[in-house]
Amino acid sequence: MKVLVINCGSSSLKFQLIDASTEELIAKGLCERIGIEGSVIGYTPTGGEKIEKEIPMPDHNKAISLVIECLTDANTGVVKDLSEIGAVGHRIVHGGEKFTKSVVINDEVIKAIEDVSELAPLHNPANLIGVRACMDLMPGTPMVAVFDTAFHQTMPEEAYMYALPYEYYEKYKVRRYGFHGTSHAYVSSRAAEILGKKIEDLNIIVCHLGNGASVSAVKGGKCIDTSMGLTPLEGLIMGTRSGDLDPAVIEFIAGKENMSAAEVVNVLNKKSGVLGMSNNVSSDFRDLEEGYNKNEAGCVRAIDGFVYRVAKYIGAYNVALGGADVICFTAGVGENSAFVREKLMKKIECLGVKLDADANGKRGEEIAISTSDSKVTCMVIPTNEELAIARDTYALCK
Ligand code: ADP
Repeated sequence: MKVLVINCGSSSLKFQLIDASTEELIAKGLCERIGIEGSVIGYTPTGGEKIEKEIPMPDHNKAISLVIECLTDANTGVVKDLSEIGAVGHRIVHGGEKFTKSVVINDEVIKAIEDVSELAPLHNPANLIGVRACMDLMPGTPMVAVFDTAFHQTMPEEAYMYALPYEYYEKYKVRRYGFHGTSHAYVSSRAAEILGKKIEDLNIIVCHLGNGASVSAVKGGKCIDTSMGLTPLEGLIMGTRSGDLDPAVIEFIAGKENMSAAEVVNVLNKKSGVLGMSNNVSSDFRDLEEGYNKNEAGCVRAIDGFVYRVAKYIGAYNVALGGADVICFTAGVGENSAFVREKLMKKIECLGVKLDADANGKRGEEIAISTSDSKVTCMVIPTNEELAIARDTYALCK
């Protein structure tokens, strides 16, 4: 069965067509600047050249119809007609407490996703626009919702509850949810497969280090803690997000800079992280590494701060798990930056971790980067959220 995977943001839409039985990628692409002047669609059939076209996309319906045109094009398309697409898997950011696993979308599911939208006002409405556009253009094709939060729903109360008046949880469901769940689930199960062990027997720490970044503690295949919270702002220092800080900072800065709380939170989301710490050098680790090697103070401060925070979470989750067997690195920085991984491995040496420098220098493969006598096995495992979405979709629709 061919599964179309859709990851719909407010002005962008990523898609992949995957043969779910062989797990082969058939085609992929990206629509950018939806609803903004200068919309562009990029489309790459596997083994073919990338095609890029500037076409007006006033809304997501137009974007999805262009995706379908690309996939069914007589010359560069990969399917004869839409009936070859057996199901569509949608990435949905927030499933609240309602969704603990992926589900086939019906009216009730749409309503429930709408109900939790106030917990993810930037993401869920955009995700739903993608769902509705696909339903309009592909009536009769089953749609599946795969939630970023679902994998973390196994966290125990002691891990997910904030130390706030309990009524805020009862009234507004204020608690920690966690995100990047599809990635944490995929990488932890892949680690067990590669090691030839049962996931039930492993304690795994997954470090998803991308522009957004989070760590999770996975015990016997179940998430017992993760660093993101009610929103993706909590936890690690990220590209532009602050991660953990004293909540009193918000009122303090608001007073000093004459801003509202919402404006400060916007700064914490968009102008902080390594971007802010480096004094606006960059949110991209490639630029920061370059500056670090030239001993530029902002870049040194940002990378050292980032690495320290990840190490602190690994230390905490090592305790939460009662000792980690495996530590996995994934996403943009985790997969590509040998520089950051090396610094990180040094910081956690007290856990008995030993770096294999040659292995750490390799790129783009699933590889152990710790030596055979390392107490904890450390691995780089490229994440594949789209494949994980396709798998869930196939399992529910085949
Ligand atoms: P997201 O999905 O959250 O947007 P990604 O997982 O794609 O993020 O990660 C993007 C980040 O990965 C970039 O901002 C950059 O910091 C980092 N990155 C990508 N390639 C490299 C590289 N070769 N070396 C260091 N960092 C890299």
